Amino acid sequence: MAHKYVYLFSEGDGSMKELLGGKGANLAEMVRLGLPVPQGFTVSTEACTRYYDDGKVIGEDIHAQIEEYLAKTEEINGKTFGDPANPLLVSVRSGARASMPGMMDTILNLGLNDDVAAGMIAGNPDPAFERFVYDSYRRFIQMFSDVVMELSKKRFEEIIDELKEQKQVKDDIELTAADMKELVARFKAFYKREKGGDFPADPKEQLLEAVKAVFRSWDNPRANVYRRMNEIPYSWGTAVNVQPMVYGNLNNDSGTGVAFTRDPATGEKALFGEYLINAQGEDVVAGVRTPSEIAQLAQDMPEVYAQFVEIANKLEQHYKDMQDMEFTIENKKLYMLQTRNGKRTAAAALRIAVDQVDEGMITEEQAIARVEPQQLDALLHPQFDSKALAAAAPIGSGLAASPGAACGRVVFTAADAKEWALKGEKVILVRLETSPDDIEGMEAAEGILTVRGGMTSHAAVVARGMGTCCVSGCGDIVMHAAEKYFTLGGNKYNEGDYISLNGTTGNIYGEAIPTVEATISGDFERFMGWADARRVLKVRTNADNPRDTAQAVKFGAEGIGLCRTEHMFFEGDRIKSMRKMIVAKDETARRAALAELLPYQQSDFTAMFEALEGRPMTVRFLDPPLHEFLPQKDDEIAEIAAELGVTAEELKNKVESLHEFNPMMGHRGCRLAVSYPEIAEMQTTAVINAALAVNAAHPEYNIVPEIMIPLICELKELKFVKDVVVKTADALIAASGADLKYMVGTMIEIPRAALLADEIAKEAEFFSFGTNDLTQMTFGFSRDDAGAFLDAYYDTKIFENDPFARLDQSGVGQLVKMAVERGKAARPNIKLGICGEHGGDPSSVKFCHAIGLNYVSCSPFRVPIARLAAAQAAIASL
Ligand code: PEP
Ligand code: MG
Repeated sequence: MAHKYVYLFSEGDGSMKELLGGKGANLAEMVRLGLPVPQGFTVSTEACTRYYDDGKVIGEDIHAQIEEYLAKTEEINGKTFGDPANPLLVSVRSGARASMPGMMDTILNLGLNDDVAAGMIAGNPDPAFERFVYDSYRRFIQMFSDVVMELSKKRFEEIIDELKEQKQVKDDIELTAADMKELVARFKAFYKREKGGDFPADPKEQLLEAVKAVFRSWDNPRANVYRRMNEIPYSWGTAVNVQPMVYGNLNNDSGTGVAFTRDPATGEKALFGEYLINAQGEDVVAGVRTPSEIAQLAQDMPEVYAQFVEIANKLEQHYKDMQDMEFTIENKKLYMLQTRNGKRTAAAALRIAVDQVDEGMITEEQAIARVEPQQLDALLHPQFDSKALAAAAPIGSGLAASPGAACGRVVFTAADAKEWALKGEKVILVRLETSPDDIEGMEAAEGILTVRGGMTSHAAVVARGMGTCCVSGCGDIVMHAAEKYFTLGGNKYNEGDYISLNGTTGNIYGEAIPTVEATISGDFERFMGWADARRVLKVRTNADNPRDTAQAVKFGAEGIGLCRTEHMFFEGDRIKSMRKMIVAKDETARRAALAELLPYQQSDFTAMFEALEGRPMTVRFLDPPLHEFLPQKDDEIAEIAAELGVTAEELKNKVESLHEFNPMMGHRGCRLAVSYPEIAEMQTTAVINAALAVNAAHPEYNIVPEIMIPLICELKELKFVKDVVVKTADALIAASGADLKYMVGTMIEIPRAALLADEIAKEAEFFSFGTNDLTQMTFGFSRDDAGAFLDAYYDTKIFENDPFARLDQSGVGQLVKMAVERGKAARPNIKLGICGEHGGDPSSVKFCHAIGLNYVSCSPFRVPIARLAAAQAAIASL
């Protein structure tokens, strides 16, 4: 038997989403439930995949099945496609497995041509009916031309406006039947001029072209971006639903609307929606007429309303989730055109999940599975006012590096950001890329925009840590930082101009869009409590100052998985001591500079141990290449040389000597401690002294510091640095007379370390997977520059995701898994975590659960996301 590609609604059910798409499966389910659904058919997602495999053609067999099912639909509905006496007209809609709003517009009234229109009119003497037919016909030409033939909608609107002007009328509603007929003629003439051929009159040809257009739309740029953002695989394809038309625009006993079983904005349990009398679906969406609230239907058509309420309740009970439904009323008869689990705000998602548990509709486990971890972001960061956002158009986009919304005035330097913020201005810091030097400006800014840099670039990592909105890597920006302006999207933006950033989508707006503050609702704690009770993975945070630590603890962090100590060396006078250390001519001078740094570092660790109140902290030793701490420009070099008491030439020579072709593979990480063990000595002293002091004040904390050596590729290298740590720590502990335990472990972030994990585990009491560097070094893609070519990889479908944002489970993930197995084999009680940016990405968290890590560590604002993702992973694996 030939493979089946087409299904009547009555042949499917709600479980067949993969094959029939969400919309098709739900239509089938509604038919099964005996609800009033105009019965049509679904062309499966497999037909879409075949369409692409066959070189974008619809195979003969699929074509034959479409015709066969069209005939069945004609029989069920007692109407015939293209028959002027009794025509079947259909709607054609896309429907992927996961709903993808806006991927493709619907085509309504398909099957109309001159003969069918004339036949319909001949069968109904009501003069209003003629107008209705030609109105439907002109709408069909418009939609088909736009969606299938890619003719601009705008031109059709202009033709309508021209006619309205000629007729001296203001509203579409004032156009007569003859006017609508005239519009049909003008639309067809325009079509012919543009396309060089007649508008297709054969309904079967119309249908086939429409099906192809839906399949094509799966690969349009909008769909590709949406898929990437929502992690929907390209391979899924979309289904096509062909459904007999019912007419909400037939007369005043007809109408159309959209409703939700609960309020999608707040989650309140009440039917929520709107409808329009005498209208077709797109009128509701287009906003030309103001719809009535659904409650009004109780007055307009009480019986229909009662029936609708009953169906809505039935559907919610059936799906056990909030439903988003489309309906049409034709001559006082109700038809259901769609139902699906409704999209909702984060606050509504929590409220609905919690309410439905209280109502006994779902279990706590089901509630946990209901809420998208990523959605929690919206509760923690400011968002744009939704109305203002809808009215704004982006001028460009970059990577959605740190979520939330920001609006402020453009500044180009960290110093300006700080200065303007002190004066009470809200600013957006626009930089080519950021460096640790910019930290104070980044803190002062509402949002950060960079031209270069990927998802693990400095700007992205630091902004995420602060919870500040950031769009990175917008390569379309042309910077003129010295002249204090940039250009984007053909416009010039000067210092002081307002722009807005959406760090959740990556969009950039050349205007001020008001934002609303984040609010954590009362349901949050209860819901997260359910999640915490089920997860196995612990969730720690990446933080390097007491403020972020306290924030993370509030969000439920169970410790610090990564304290990047280099971030502590930039503030105020510290950078000066750091520079002294770097330019030191010998060990004695270096030790003197390190002695200046020690109190800073020790007091930071003390404050952080205190903020953690006994929760564990992993302190990672100095990691970045030293040139990052030195000035690069001549004027800065001269100024700093004077401060340091060296000549400008000496400093310049030092800067040049530290220059590396590949700094990310250069003199950094543990290599610094191998060259200058005194750095590791100082850092050990700071950690141990801080732990001793805090333990003395709070014996109940019982702190066991975890010292982490970065960028290890070889056991002897780890042993060398560890010996320095142990010697220093043991001497301090002995001298204190206290009993302090501590651990020494390493990051696994170089492929060689993963390969030799069993060897390395002999000296490492814990592993923390640094998947930023591990991804960089496994792919050979620079984490700071890959953005420049990844777009081409998405366009060509070589990649569907940014491997720096979502762990590449098949490649990098294998190294992680292997290192886990080898590490455990050598040291069964080895502690295992991840601290790369993937630690806050839900799908990566699920992978970490599956391979048996003990914890994930992520930036403070992603802690709730990781908690929920970890709970979902635990529930899914039961
Ligand atoms: C990593 O490489 O994954 C990591 C956490 O370290 P950093 O980002 O500081 O290099
Ligand atoms: Mg690293």
